[in-house]
Amino acid sequence: NQGTAPAEEAGRDQPQIAAPLPGVVVTGASGRMGQMLVRAVLDSDACRLVAALVRPGHPWVGMDVGAAMGGVPVGVPVTDDAVSAIARAQAILDFTAPEASLATATLAAQARAVHVIGTTGFTAEQLARLRPAARHAPIIRAGNMSLGVNLLAALTRKVAAALGTAWDIEIVEAHHRMKVDAPSGTALMLGEAAAEGRGDSLADLRTPARDGMTGARAAGSIGFASVRGGDVVGEHDVIFATEGERVVLRHLATDRAIFARGALRAALWGQDKGPGEYDVADVLGI
Ligand code: NAP
Repeated sequence: NQGTAPAEEAGRDQPQIAAPLPGVVVTGASGRMGQMLVRAVLDSDACRLVAALVRPGHPWVGMDVGAAMGGVPVGVPVTDDAVSAIARAQAILDFTAPEASLATATLAAQARAVHVIGTTGFTAEQLARLRPAARHAPIIRAGNMSLGVNLLAALTRKVAAALGTAWDIEIVEAHHRMKVDAPSGTALMLGEAAAEGRGDSLADLRTPARDGMTGARAAGSIGFASVRGGDVVGEHDVIFATEGERVVLRHLATDRAIFARGALRAALWGQDKGPGEYDVADVLGI
């Protein structure tokens, strides 16, 4: 028994004290995705919900988030105090709007918390403003957090590289009637993957939605078209068309929970990562 410190000895008979589960804050908790994220965190035994954050003055402030979402109370109040909520977080799940996500990124950087951003519609200038925050904490951002779509992007990159410019690439997406940006963040992500496959950047190849006398298709361009209606969760076709044949790669989302589960998986993956910008391909290791 010699050389064993008393505390160590006592510790042998005692149950191990588990490390506290990562605390997660959901921003935009009243939104369609926000509510999905709150549910995903509450259903997970790998993390705990520390706050449900909403826009200042939102009618849900002060309510229990479970009750506010129309269910049973869960013991977590809704708050509009972003500073103190995020100070207690190890991860933030954020599917809101670009300016809201930029403000959250500053607070996440100060808290050294993993910031998972599902928000779409960032301009290049807004993306540049996100970069300084990633010098202090991990930011994991993806226009689509689903496993299937990220696999589709990897396939798109490969197929575009294999087929070459004799095959026209068109990306067609459909979403619900409430979506405010077009083309979808996922469509742009797929377009970027196709452009990368061709050794180019989407900025050089992108043809926006056509209307009127557009003239013939520009060789080597990547075209986009958007459909909006009803409650479509998200559909994406990457069409490779040449004379006499077409290849269509398709992803259909039928349940938004896939995005919430992907975001949560990213938040947990990010817990031991250093500052920097990551995407779901990093999370999946593909
Ligand atoms: P939504 O139902 O309109 O929810 C947006 C939420 O963000 C609301 O709670 C809204 O609060 C809040 N918000 C918006 N602007 C804000 C601001 N300036 N400050 C604070 N809070 C603000 O939209 P959604 O369908 O959940 O989608 C949200 C975002 O996620 C969109 O960009 C969408 O394209 C994206 N999305 C991404 C994925 C993915 O996998 N990456 C999947 C689905 C959706 P109020 O209600 O008070 O305005």
